[in-house]
Amino acid sequence: MATTHPHEVAPLSSADTVELFKQYVIGNYTRYPVNLVRGEGSLVWDAEGNRYLDFFPGWGCNLLGHCPEKIVRAVQEQVATLIHVPNTWHMDVQGRWAQMLSQRSFGGKAFFCNSGTEANEAAIKLARLHAGKGRYKIITFTGGFHGRTFGSLSATAQPKYHEGLGPMVAGFLYAPHGDLAAASSLVDDETCAIMIEPIQGEGGVKIPSKEFLEGLRKLCDERGLLLIFDEVQTGCGRTGQWFGYQHFGVEPDLITLAKSLCGGIAGGALLAKNEIAPALRPGMHAATFGGNPIAARAGIAAIEMIEEEGLLAQAVQLGHLFERRMQDLQAKCDLVREVRVAGVMVGVELSVEGAQVVKSCLERKLLVNCTQGNVIRLLPAMNLPEEQAEEGCDILCDVIQSLPRA
Ligand SMILES: *Cc1c(COP(=O)(O)O)cnc(C)c1O
Repeated sequence: MATTHPHEVAPLSSADTVELFKQYVIGNYTRYPVNLVRGEGSLVWDAEGNRYLDFFPGWGCNLLGHCPEKIVRAVQEQVATLIHVPNTWHMDVQGRWAQMLSQRSFGGKAFFCNSGTEANEAAIKLARLHAGKGRYKIITFTGGFHGRTFGSLSATAQPKYHEGLGPMVAGFLYAPHGDLAAASSLVDDETCAIMIEPIQGEGGVKIPSKEFLEGLRKLCDERGLLLIFDEVQTGCGRTGQWFGYQHFGVEPDLITLAKSLCGGIAGGALLAKNEIAPALRPGMHAATFGGNPIAARAGIAAIEMIEEEGLLAQAVQLGHLFERRMQDLQAKCDLVREVRVAGVMVGVELSVEGAQVVKSCLERKLLVNCTQGNVIRLLPAMNLPEEQAEEGCDILCDVIQSLPRA
């Protein structure tokens, strides 16, 4: 009998794959009609052999590019040694991972889970438990994005994501992003926390003023609230610092992480200051796969790779490159309203809809994202080679400049 190995089977064509999805996969995503089969660095290939330059690898999860060798090796080794054991045991890899995160943030403790929304659920629970009886309200901000499970969704102050799903979890109050006075006026005796992305990602790469975040810190200190930073998108080196908060010199009490935390492997974490962490007592919260050996090994390898290869500095350099290219574009193209850059987190706000830009870039084999209707969002890998950055910027500039005028 002939044996076939899965990797020897030719991939299905893109068209056949689309058919398979139509029949068997729930259609809750808008997907490009392309079957991606392989990735390396900032390049991916489809079943037809087309090569794409990826400026949005893994929706922000592949901060180190596709299949980074160090992560691949760590995972291969771990998967052959110990795949999963429950959190009723100790695992040195989980402990060492927590230590590494602690040493690069504010020296607290970690709870591990598998995604961003889960990390935020843990933060919400911890904030309520820490505050004690009767204090349950959490203030969040318009345009924020915290995830899709009900706690995180209720924290997400964007009506479009709530449509048809109500009622939301009680106790979330929304202030306009950037409005310190409004946030302050929402605080009462039942408030336990303020939760915010230090830089809004899905909201359009919105960078708040240092004064605003400082003001939130002060408000939290005065009223005995926890300050929660959702760093699911900004964390783990994305902005050229380990964590987004380090840009502003404003230290939160809780940090949530996921997306690029494990170099493309699924993983999430909540980091809590030492004096707050004990409120998450045994039995109060759990995640079966949280901090599993594979995620832990990948998480450790991601941190090591970033440090060994000087990638934080490289993210800053790449940020300058994107800023220069997009500002040059803005100078000669009146469709570009604003350019917002923090390391390898780039937002180009247009005065027209951005969907056509994504489509035209795809036709020219460049992958970009559009959020909030008119913000072209790039979350490139921090090890994107400069030539590829320039190559992609050439395409993007060309596409935006040839957009039809309204
Ligand atoms: C993506 C994202 C989330 C949700 O993460 P999932 O892993 O999809 O649950 C939460 N917060 C922010 C800031 C995000 O960018």
